[in-house]
Amino acid sequence: MIRDTIPEPPAGAGTALMPIFVRCERCRTEYKFEVKASDLVQYKKGANPQAAFPYLKPEQQLLLADGLCQGCWDVNEGAEDDEEYDR
Ligand SMILES: [Zn+2]
Repeated sequence: MIRDTIPEPPAGAGTALMPIFVRCERCRTEYKFEVKASDLVQYKKGANPQAAFPYLKPEQQLLLADGLCQGCWDVNEGAEDDEEYDR
C-alpha cells in the first residue's frame, strides 16, 4: 500500500507544510510533494487523497491513491484504448 510507505508527521506539527516523498510502484520514480501535516494525519487514517489534499494536482492525488504516477497511468490507458475503438 502506498499509504504505508509515507511516514506519520511528527506530533504537534499542526498545519505546517511538510515534504513527503512518494515512489511510483511501477517506474520507481520518487516524487516530492508539500502537504499540511494535519492533512497527512487524515490521509494516514484512511481519508482519500482527493479529500485530504484538495490543493494537490490530480496526478499527485492519483499517485497517493493508487501508487502510480501520471506517466504510468498514461501507459495503462494507452494499452486499454486499443480495445475500445468501437464507439
Ligand atoms: Zn510511474
